[in-house]
Formats: sequence, structure tokens, C-alpha cells
Amino acid sequence: MQCGHAVSGNGYTNHCPKCLWSVHVDEDPGDRAADCGKPMKPVHAFLKGERIRITHECTACGLRKNVNSVRADDYDQILTLMRASAERMF
Ligand SMILES: [Zn+2]
Ligand SMILES: [Zn+2]
Repeated sequence: MQCGHAVSGNGYTNHCPKCLWSVHVDEDPGDRAADCGKPMKPVHAFLKGERIRITHECTACGLRKNVNSVRADDYDQILTLMRASAERMF
């Protein structure tokens, strides 16, 4: 993982709580069907209804995926990411 923090995924949230990087292992959340296995960079965070979602982009194949984030651990990083996303808009 990107920052060296050990990630124990539960099948749905396998991104790192420290840096929000993920790994391209799923086609659909939790299915482990992707062969890619490369790091996925967090590029965007947004609200969908009452849930925060993170967009990950695969550094190898460029696939983009939105994942739900429901962990309180993630919030500091998500705020940072949202701020960066907002700054890119202006
Ligand atoms: Zn990390
Ligand atoms: Zn990939």
C-alpha cells in the first residue's frame, strides 16, 4: 500500500485510512474479480445522498471507481481530498 500502512479490508472498504489509496482487486465491490492488482489513487471525494463516496483511479489501467466510505477514520483524509478537488474547480 502507498503509505505502508497495513490495510485489513472487509471486502467493501479496502482502501487505506491513512492515505485513501486502494488496490484494483474488484470489478464489483467485494468480488475480487480483477486481475490488475495495481494501486488505485484517490482522485475525488463527494457526497452522494448522506454518504461520502471516494473516486479511485487505477494507476495502471486508468479504471475509475466510486466507493462508499463509512469509516470515521477516513474523514480527515476525505476533507483533505475534498479541499483539493474544490481547489481544482477554481
Ligand atoms: Zn496508506
Ligand atoms: Zn487496474
